[in-house]
Amino acid sequence: MIAVLSGGTGTPKLLRGLKELTDFVVIVNTAEDIWISGNKVCPDIDAVLYTLAGIIDDERWWGIKGDSFRTHEMLLKLGYDEFMAIGDLDRAIHIFRSELLRKGYTLTEATRALRRALKVEQEVLPMCDDDVETRVVTDVGDLHFQEFWVKHKGKPKVFDVYFRGIEKAKATRDVLRALKNAELVLIGPSNPITSIMPIILVKGVKEVLKVKRVVAISPIVGKSPVSGPAGKFMRAKGYEVSPLGVADVYLEFLDVLVVDDADRHLVGKYKSIEIVATNTIMKTVEDSKRLAEFVLSL
Ligand code: GDP
Repeated sequence: MIAVLSGGTGTPKLLRGLKELTDFVVIVNTAEDIWISGNKVCPDIDAVLYTLAGIIDDERWWGIKGDSFRTHEMLLKLGYDEFMAIGDLDRAIHIFRSELLRKGYTLTEATRALRRALKVEQEVLPMCDDDVETRVVTDVGDLHFQEFWVKHKGKPKVFDVYFRGIEKAKATRDVLRALKNAELVLIGPSNPITSIMPIILVKGVKEVLKVKRVVAISPIVGKSPVSGPAGKFMRAKGYEVSPLGVADVYLEFLDVLVVDDADRHLVGKYKSIEIVATNTIMKTVEDSKRLAEFVLSL
């Protein structure tokens, strides 16, 4: 069994291919979660669930393919400022989850109920059941990740990123079991700062990673991310925006870093990490499968 650590875009792209090749369990970042219009939105969990259920909008890598936004549009018409565009079907998922949470389910239990309802075979585990919130310190204030990325379109200058509540976050029994049973821990090409770092900082996770074989795929090609704000966040945290910067984020426990062919000159040893190269750009399901095959062959 493989344990995959995931955010909401790069790693789900990989899961699309991996699911055709092997069994795995996914441990997902929850620090970008937010309550919107009365419901709990878990962007990364939802992207993973929708991908595994085959219903992800694979143009945007969020939301459900072909969804409508009538409820969202009506809310705006009523003068209610819903700053994230929530699709109608997407909202049904959030209602299902939030009702379970209101009844006292943990996020792990609510996610399990959801993935069963969506007929997803693979276990999808929130990184923890505690509230953790990624905050971005910017020139326009201290923002929730979603305010920075959605409301302000990722434009503000970033001075720092921190995870509110992380000191109290403990790995769940399910996460620890999944990691301990895994013959390989795979960190997909996700944002190292806002998607993977929160998972690693959950109490109990890093200790297990240190004794496991850990392989990561770089979300940075050359000097920039394939998409999204990873570059701004890495710089703010003092890391170089490059595959080597990614290696430095994971230095304490990483065994192998997969970089893109464009960075083939990095192949070899970097500190304690072995660097290998292949084409890591996933535009189609075939690309995802080819990259997943490469990782499994290591
Ligand atoms: P988020 O939760 O939406 O931020 O999603 P993730 O953290 O899972 O993924 C975002 C990261 O995926 C970005 O840093 C991108 O550079 C990376 N990414 C997206 N598509 C690809 C791809 O096809 N190949 C690689 N190597 N990285 C990708």
